[in-house]
Amino acid sequence: MIYQHGDGWEWFTYYWDEFITWFLAAPLIAQILVIIGIATVLILTIVLVYYIAKGVCLLLTYIGKGIYKLFKGLSTAVEGKSKKNEESEEIHYVQVIENRAPVQSVPQKVNINTNTYNKASFCPECGIRFSGKVLNALESRGFAFCQQCGSKTESNSVQISI
Ligand SMILES: [Zn+2]
Repeated sequence: MIYQHGDGWEWFTYYWDEFITWFLAAPLIAQILVIIGIATVLILTIVLVYYIAKGVCLLLTYIGKGIYKLFKGLSTAVEGKSKKNEESEEIHYVQVIENRAPVQSVPQKVNINTNTYNKASFCPECGIRFSGKVLNALESRGFAFCQQCGSKTESNSVQISI
């Protein structure tokens, strides 16, 4: 029989034989205690292995979910970003057209605007008629503060609200 050093099975059988000889020679109480001890160790090991396996499974599930969410988030972020860029470009384009249109249109419209603007020179907040000072500021600066309630009014918003 070739005895190989480091062979686990040989070592196990050797110690097992030793244990059996000791076990058979030992008193009954020691035998029972040994059996109970082995059973306890076995049960604890099984429980421990079960919980470790469960924990590892849960961990793997969480990691998997996390990676999935990460990739999903990244992909949606990339898609959303590109989509947003396209949308903003479209909006910008539309705004440029809208901004150009009134400038190129007939200058008569400006007169109409100022006329209606003068008619509707009431504060949208409190409803009081603007004083001449406020109206002048509104005309020159494009915005003014109501002499009654102090709310800011822009000439653009007044025109739009008409
Ligand atoms: Zn007011």
